[in-house]
Amino acid sequence: MQLPYVEIDVLAIEQNARAIVELCSSAGIEVTGVTKGVFGHPEVATAMLRGGVGSIGESRLDNVARLRAGGVDSPIMLIRPPSLARIAETVGEVAVSYQSDLTTLERIGAEAVVAGGAHDVILMVDLGERREGVLPDDLPRFANEAAVIPGVRVVGIGTNLTCFAGLVPTPDNMSRLVELAERVERCAGIELAWISAGSSSALPLLADGRMPERVNHLRIGEAILLGRETVHHQPWPGAVQDAMLLRAEVV
Ligand SMILES: *Cc1c(COP(=O)(O)O)cnc(C)c1O
Repeated sequence: MQLPYVEIDVLAIEQNARAIVELCSSAGIEVTGVTKGVFGHPEVATAMLRGGVGSIGESRLDNVARLRAGGVDSPIMLIRPPSLARIAETVGEVAVSYQSDLTTLERIGAEAVVAGGAHDVILMVDLGERREGVLPDDLPRFANEAAVIPGVRVVGIGTNLTCFAGLVPTPDNMSRLVELAERVERCAGIELAWISAGSSSALPLLADGRMPERVNHLRIGEAILLGRETVHHQPWPGAVQDAMLLRAEVV
């Protein structure tokens, strides 16, 4: 094959997924395997699923289409809000999406009603990272409004850390997320199936046994693909670090 290229060992991906799924399931946490780092490569997603992840997470609808075309029929979560131009695709192709805007939610609901069903959403809350999500004080009202949109089912809340500002998950901010979920449940009179706490950067907290009990979902990309966590870039126990190799000529 012509250099440069990336060689992916799907058995190693499966092993890494299994190591992380085992740790997470021992704490009652379901893992969504994130494939955006490999542009939704279907064989990588399939390896993650063999390793035990419950669903696949993608940030791009083009990658979702690639996954589906490649035969991946597991539930897929859209982990980034869609543009208004691609609402129909979102409702048609993914089981759950992450949302933080009422206009988008109204469009999603309308589309889902036309399609004869309802679309599940996880509402994003910003715990200081300043990337996405409604502010904690605005969350109860936002959730109340979202919960009554026909065609929209609010199934959880989530947050995203260690992206822009580089905040890491701590017992404090994770407990805050659980408190907010419980406030939403009281205010909107709904039960949330998912508290989606973050990405590979949440694994050290989990391994230390300091993740609050109600957190039950993580979205993991890098720790599966590269076998390391993303705060200190340490190798992850039970995972291998050479699942992805860049083959190139040194000149
Ligand atoms: C990319 C992404 C993840 C996965 O992050 P990793 O560091 O690769 O584990 C999780 N959640 C969201 C919203 C993402 O965009």
